Amino acid sequence: MPVPAAVTDTIAAISTPPGRGGIGIVRLSGPQAASIAVQLVRMRHPLEHAHARLADVLDAACDAPAHDETTRIDEALVTFFAAPHSYTAEDLVEIATHGSPVVLELLLRGALALGARLAEPGEFTQRAFLSGRLDLTQAEAVRDLIDAQTLTQARQAASQMGGALSHRVAPIKQSLVELVALLEAGIDFAEDDIDVTPQQEIARRIAELTPPLAALEASFARGRIVHDGLTLAIVGRPNAGKSSLFNRLVERDRAIVTATPGTTRDLVTERISIGGIPIELVDTAGLREGPSSLDGSHDGILEEAEQLGIHRSREALADAALVLIVLDATQPLNDEEHRLLAAVQGRPAIVAVNKSDLMEGPRSESGLPFAYAQEPALDALTTLSTSALSGEGIVALREKILALATGGAAAEPGMLTNLRQHRAVTTTLAALADAATANAAAIPHEMILLDLYRALWALDSLTGQTTPDDILNLIFSTFCIGK
Ligand code: GDP
Repeated sequence: MPVPAAVTDTIAAISTPPGRGGIGIVRLSGPQAASIAVQLVRMRHPLEHAHARLADVLDAACDAPAHDETTRIDEALVTFFAAPHSYTAEDLVEIATHGSPVVLELLLRGALALGARLAEPGEFTQRAFLSGRLDLTQAEAVRDLIDAQTLTQARQAASQMGGALSHRVAPIKQSLVELVALLEAGIDFAEDDIDVTPQQEIARRIAELTPPLAALEASFARGRIVHDGLTLAIVGRPNAGKSSLFNRLVERDRAIVTATPGTTRDLVTERISIGGIPIELVDTAGLREGPSSLDGSHDGILEEAEQLGIHRSREALADAALVLIVLDATQPLNDEEHRLLAAVQGRPAIVAVNKSDLMEGPRSESGLPFAYAQEPALDALTTLSTSALSGEGIVALREKILALATGGAAAEPGMLTNLRQHRAVTTTLAALADAATANAAAIPHEMILLDLYRALWALDSLTGQTTPDDILNLIFSTFCIGK
């Protein structure tokens, strides 16, 4: 655990979101938290650890004596947590009032006038980290929980906050430390005839460290998409049924409340949750090659608008992690669709042969029209038959989207969820590989130890024990104020 920093100042912030609300909370943390709080409001009873107390918020600008009812501007509930049994492990006070920005501002200004300092974003959590109450993965989980948009994301964050990732790392670190100690002892006591650890023993121990670390590294595939979500671009010729499929997918599980309006860059977008993974659907305009295919239209403005739409959908296609190509089962593939299919080869893509309800004639085993089932351009792609009208194939489509999004990686406790964590683990693995190579080449233990210490340092940076201050500050600055 990091050495607790000597905190001498008291920080204050409005911890509830900006704007009006049913309640709002001003939070204070630090040695003067309690003494400032009792000057800030008129307590009806003394503060007591982990108890909420009623108090009056007084209008500081009012000249009337403090006991006069007219000076009361709001009623507050004040909760005090004595160090070290608080979120920050310092004295901490939360003053809950009605959620009027005016009242909250009044309290905050009052707190600052009484000697508190305005908290930096994430500073409460940073103090919890510095005091050793949370490690860095747990602190990051606090931010992830606040930012969660699906229940799966919230669960993932809660599990990491509970130490799932730290617990997974702890035994690996323990083994690494033991190996380091073994080599150090061999060096320190070499002259006293202590047995030097045999080369095979070192190799065995390094080899044992690798699988759990590799598994941890691999967990990033799933952890990252749970954390960040993915974009799925729906592309295809006009009238294939893109918007209808889009609506079908959005219809259920409109679980994500997003502050972004429905359209971005003139493309219709909507966030949905499939298997708890946030997926941003982008409904693109029909991809057409150019004005030549506009049925001979010579309306310049229309063409221009069309061109703009095509350009944007190309961009959306290029940006999206996943692609859903919608084909019309009643139409043969055209040139433009052939080009599109060629363009997504090797990319995570699904082909929905839509309007299956209108399909006449025999179907292949996979339910596709024969013409499509024998289409070589579709060979390497995940293909299924859908009907946006009847709903056929929509459940399967969702499953295929999920499978494509996760790449088959299963959810597990203690997944790596961000690049910082991932880098820490890949650096550890690389350093261990160097140690193994050095050991195999019978290089002196002093040199092998350098690699092992590098591995240990990287692993410790995962939980924040060896993370430099400037990086820490950068991480906590991504939190919201008051957290
Ligand atoms: P987009 O231009 O690709 O977005 O296509 P739309 O979703 O606007 O659909 C074009 C037309 O095809 C509309 O009249 C839809 O009602 C119809 N349509 C879409 N999907 C299906 C389907 O699965 N079956 C049938 N019969 N009609 C569909």
